[in-house]
Amino acid sequence: MSPHPALQCPRDGADLIVERMHGIEVDHCALCNGRWLDHHELDDLEATKADEDVRRGTIRYAERDSDLDCPVCGDRMAAFNYRAYDLELDTCRDEHGFWLDAGEEGRVRDIIDERVRGLKRSASAEVAWGNFLDGLGGRGGDGAWGSVRRFFGGRR
Ligand SMILES: [Zn+2]
Ligand SMILES: [Zn+2]
Repeated sequence: MSPHPALQCPRDGADLIVERMHGIEVDHCALCNGRWLDHHELDDLEATKADEDVRRGTIRYAERDSDLDCPVCGDRMAAFNYRAYDLELDTCRDEHGFWLDAGEEGRVRDIIDERVRGLKRSASAEVAWGNFLDGLGGRGGDGAWGSVRRFFGGRR
């Protein structure tokens, strides 16, 4: 049983049904396929993809009035750009939770993937640059040219 009476979908008023998504208990609307996440569950969703380093930072950018009401308290929610990406989510200003329209939970996970890749890329660029500098320092003049000469020499 759900710990609370069914919430209503802020888009169409249908009863939300509790389901498990990536191990998180969310309230799902079968009509519009939107999902309601309790306030801490957005972080839980991000945590399915990345550790704390990646999840640091501001989540709510360009906050403005939403056209949806919070399914818990009925107050008008705030719409915002998730982590400054072109993804609009809605949240209750009293921290009751987040509303994700159909497919937006997938976009949240994609964005976190992108951030992980970005961090790895900058880390590996630093390593490559370090190796390049080491290469300049060692081995004298017999680097690439020596390999080329040996290669052609060996084919005779
Ligand atoms: Zn709905
Ligand atoms: Zn609320």
